Amino acid sequence: MDSSEFEEELARERRGRLAAERMLEQKQKELREANKNLSDHALSLSDKIINQREVVTTLQGENSRVTEDLQKANTRIQETERILWAALENIPDGFALFSPDFRLITANRPYLTVFDDTAGVSIGDSYQSILDVCLDDGLIDLQGQDEDEWYDTMLDRWVGPMIAPITIRFWNGMYIKMIDRKTADGGIVSLAHNITDTILHEDELRLARDKAQAADRAKSAFLAKMSHELRTPMNGVVGMADLLLENAQDEESKLYTETIRNSGTALLEIINNILDFSKIEAEKLELRLAPFDLEQLVQEVSIMVGPSIRDKPITLQVDYDQFLPTEFHGDAGRLRQILVNLVGNAVKFTDEGSILIRIVGISDEASPNCELHITVEDSGIGIPEEMVDHVFGEFNQIEDEANRKYEGTGLGLAITRKLVEVMGGEIWVDSVPEHGSCFGFKLSLRRTSSGQLQKAALPDGISQALIWLDNSLDKSVMERQMALLGIEATFVMSAAEFGLTLERDPPSVVITSQRRKDTVEGLLSNATHQTPLLTFADSPGQISDISRPFTRAGLLDALIASTENTEANPPVRPVQVLAAEDNKTNQLVLTKMLVGANIDLHLVGDGVEAIEKFKELKPDLVFLDISMPRMDGMEAAQTIRKLEADGEHVPIVAMTAHAMAGDEERILSSGIDHYLTKPLKKPDLHRHVENVAYAISAAERPSAKPQETTRQDAVPL
Ligand code: ADP
Repeated sequence: MDSSEFEEELARERRGRLAAERMLEQKQKELREANKNLSDHALSLSDKIINQREVVTTLQGENSRVTEDLQKANTRIQETERILWAALENIPDGFALFSPDFRLITANRPYLTVFDDTAGVSIGDSYQSILDVCLDDGLIDLQGQDEDEWYDTMLDRWVGPMIAPITIRFWNGMYIKMIDRKTADGGIVSLAHNITDTILHEDELRLARDKAQAADRAKSAFLAKMSHELRTPMNGVVGMADLLLENAQDEESKLYTETIRNSGTALLEIINNILDFSKIEAEKLELRLAPFDLEQLVQEVSIMVGPSIRDKPITLQVDYDQFLPTEFHGDAGRLRQILVNLVGNAVKFTDEGSILIRIVGISDEASPNCELHITVEDSGIGIPEEMVDHVFGEFNQIEDEANRKYEGTGLGLAITRKLVEVMGGEIWVDSVPEHGSCFGFKLSLRRTSSGQLQKAALPDGISQALIWLDNSLDKSVMERQMALLGIEATFVMSAAEFGLTLERDPPSVVITSQRRKDTVEGLLSNATHQTPLLTFADSPGQISDISRPFTRAGLLDALIASTENTEANPPVRPVQVLAAEDNKTNQLVLTKMLVGANIDLHLVGDGVEAIEKFKELKPDLVFLDISMPRMDGMEAAQTIRKLEADGEHVPIVAMTAHAMAGDEERILSSGIDHYLTKPLKKPDLHRHVENVAYAISAAERPSAKPQETTRQDAVPL
């Protein structure tokens, strides 16, 4: 080998070695990387192992905690179950659980005790077989019910989704109320509740209540009877005192007689209160519903209390909501009684100041009813706050020194409250001691269309009135009254206006106040027409043709009187009056009160005699007492109406001690036309006689005015 070959060989070797070295280096690098990866992996693996070991430890901890909790829970459940069962075993009531196919799953002792003396009931028994045991062993007191019927009832009640409780009476008098409920899976939980004590207690209470009610009724009946009996002699006292007063010669005897009459009237009022109260208590009160004029009723009440305010510096005012209708359907008599009580109290407990009767209401066209608010406000002594509820109780009064000077029974407000409640209303009071009280009540009354109210009959020839007054309140009241009477009224405010209208448009009647009487008479005497003049009182109590406050009845009476010319129409003959009254004192009162009337009075002592006399006499007018021996007034009236058949209708006027609702209905349904309450009032008796006299003269004298204008039944009595 030459040297170049050698060198070449050497170079090749070197290259080969270098390549091998590079390769080695490369492989070593790769090996290092592989090693590194391996160690990284080993590291991460060991990390994971550590982690997992930790997880396992945690899980192991948790596992033992859960096991512990489970054990605790189990213990608690067992404990609770034990307590529950102990409780269920110890309650006096029976408890049982039935499966959806109505088999007894479990039951407490009290449930099973009932069956102790029987063939027994055990867990697994069907509900039907339990019912069989009940019947077969006579456990149930069926109280007349059929066995099969009872069995079916007990089975059927478990069928529906809701099971109504049922009470079962056992043979030993024990009462069990079965309260059953469906469970979620369709089974039944049954609770047998022992209600024997409650039932026995209820029985006792019922018995006690019946006894108390019977005693209460007896008390009310006794009170009603006694007060009725007391009234008759009292009527004699008051009636006679009234007559004596008319003839009293000197001031002293007048004073004595007045005292007798006033005390008698006060006593009668107390008796009436007791009678009313006992009747309401005995639930004998029925409302007598009829159309009436509320505004007129309020005016009448203020007239009634008028005399008692005359001696006190008090003004009494009525504020009737001018947009409110006046005609309603209701029990006017009872409403009057409520108002008289409230206004009477206001007068009694007010020494000076004012009393205001206010009537407001909501009248919705869409509804037939009207919501009325009626209040009686006074500026009197007031009621302490703690007594406000107390005053509505029976016999309750405010017992303090200041109060002792006032008379009364303490029944008025109790009656008033009951009456308001019977009418479906509500009563209340607001009061400030020393400043005054406001008693109010609300009622819902049905409106009547104006035509429904009995129209007052006017004598012919009165169609237009010329009225001179200077008070706008008087004007609004008078306007309404005239409209109700169907009279066209022209109002003037001055003499000049009066004179002008009188000539231009001659009226059929002229009305003015008492103090203008002379002026108007002067104006009338110069007029070309002759016009009747009526005056009205300037203040309550003043004597005038029309007294104050104005009422339709008062106006009507005055208008009728203004057209009556007694000289031109002398009475044709005495009115034949038949009167039946058993009480001698009352006979005397009646006779004396009718003195002065152009009548022939025929007095009899009972209904039987009245019928005999009626047949013989054919009277023009009959007065009948209601309670009489042998035949009472109502029966007599019925007999008279039968005797008359379709013949002439003789007016019959009943005289009754105290007409209550219901009584009144009965009285009028027996053919009686009117009734008067005792004590009788002379003007009432005379008015009835005069009306009949007028009818006679009208019938027997062809020129006289038509008869129907005198029918007094057109005027509410
Ligand atoms: P009486 O008036 O007969 O005593 P009431 O039942 O009518 O019975 O009234 C009961 C009590 O309520 C009265 O005694 C009085 O103390 C009180 N009372 C009633 N109305 C008023 C009033 N307007 N102002 C002050 N107190 C009144």
